Amino acid sequence: MQDTLRGSITPEREWWDLTYYDLNIKVQPDKKYIAGYNVVHYKVLKSHNIIQIDLQEPLEITAISQDNEDLDYNKIGPAYFIILKKKQVPGEYNELYIQYAGKPKEAVNAPWDGGFSWKKDKNGKDFIATSCQGLGASVWWPNKDHMYDEVDSMRIAIDVPKDLIAVANGRLRDTHEYEYGGFKLYEWFVSNPINNYGVNVNIGDYVNFSEVYQGEKGPLDMDYWVLSYNLEIAKKQFKDAPKMMKAFEHWFGPYPFYEDSFKLVEVPYLGMEHQSSVTYGNKYLNGYLGSDLSRTGWGLKFDFIIIHEAGHEWFANSITNKDIADMWIHESFTNYSENLFLDYYYGKEASADYVIGCRANIQNDRPIIGYYNVNHEGSSDMYYKGANMLHTLRQLIENDELWRQILRGLNTEFYHQTVTTKQIEDYLSEKTNKNLTAFFNQYLRDIRIPTLEYTIKNGELKFRYIDIVKDFDMPIEVEIDGKTEWIFPSSEWKTKPFEGKDFKIDRDYYIYSKEI
Ligand SMILES: [Zn+2]
Repeated sequence: MQDTLRGSITPEREWWDLTYYDLNIKVQPDKKYIAGYNVVHYKVLKSHNIIQIDLQEPLEITAISQDNEDLDYNKIGPAYFIILKKKQVPGEYNELYIQYAGKPKEAVNAPWDGGFSWKKDKNGKDFIATSCQGLGASVWWPNKDHMYDEVDSMRIAIDVPKDLIAVANGRLRDTHEYEYGGFKLYEWFVSNPINNYGVNVNIGDYVNFSEVYQGEKGPLDMDYWVLSYNLEIAKKQFKDAPKMMKAFEHWFGPYPFYEDSFKLVEVPYLGMEHQSSVTYGNKYLNGYLGSDLSRTGWGLKFDFIIIHEAGHEWFANSITNKDIADMWIHESFTNYSENLFLDYYYGKEASADYVIGCRANIQNDRPIIGYYNVNHEGSSDMYYKGANMLHTLRQLIENDELWRQILRGLNTEFYHQTVTTKQIEDYLSEKTNKNLTAFFNQYLRDIRIPTLEYTIKNGELKFRYIDIVKDFDMPIEVEIDGKTEWIFPSSEWKTKPFEGKDFKIDRDYYIYSKEI
């Protein structure tokens, strides 16, 4: 029941369209306590008198009003069903004022469980951050907590003890030090659509440095917020940020949030793709906390968190899944972006080594696509298996420039939108001029890996696929005595004359093979 309330587009959600959030919170580190309000602006799509807003315990909504009239609600788990008094007229814009307070859930293992991380830096100063992917942003602020409806723009105003700095998404508009009480206001503004889990607040003894990157859409402000004692090391390590921007604009098109700038913000956990304020906690090491996920050496050529989390600006923040079951759209393309980064700087062989090396991390335990409408993620194979699926697709297209134009095309077609798997599948089938239905069914909806069975006997190569879904007949490249040829296996045995000695299957295709 609660999974459905959280994960589906309920009748109390579908009748209105989010336009603007005005989120204001005061953070009191000494008490691990927050209090504030969110003004939810929305457009009425059809008439209804109940509106669903989500906020997870132990936080509580303390007041709700519309046009200065207090409103009642019924509560089921984190879902508040608020009874509106004013008639909701289609086409009209309304505002809902929601006040809340409490001690938010504390993240035990951020960013995987999420909530507030109340940490201290090496100098004993407060170092605080929010994270909420999967769990939902309603773990720390009241909102319409479903991926399908992104707010068009947002203000995030944070009061923090005046010796600390608060960094959120978008651009810093204003600061204000209060005369009494020892608090300071930081007002941030996001002028682009943003998904809920992308919203974040980070608080610490920060220092700032910045650069202007000359990108495809003109000058882009790149801002870096790091703990005061990490300034020098960050200036070195964050050189990967403009390198990332260059490679990803090449492959994916312009960075999708020029208006909001790009930021890296140091946090006390590993990292997250928070929109226009990518959070960073990779300890200023290359690789993933110093290790190479591909075990090929190539993973140590870049800072994994800078490259991976920033890759999400295109796939997760600009192109966002409507339902978390389709989260492969975020993670498969972003994991794949790591090897495109390598491709840009070290060439195609390096990038292939990397993505193929990452196959050792594939589980094949559950399908990549999860269950719809119940806030359910698919298998973690959405990372490495998804990336290998895309790498395989690149081979099928046999034209790297076309592949690049398709990746850029996705980012134009679905710019700042929430999408379904079907939309992505259809786009890729159309632009590659291939029916990819069975291909995606195999890799996204089944756990079996296509296996090529073959024998070589009496001057003949005999081959077929097993462990495949209906109609799967992906052609592959093979090498016969060093010469590359296409073969066209299906579930039926096929034969072809074979004069050669050596037979090798191109490693770029994610399949198994078995000589029988
Ligand atoms: Zn990711």
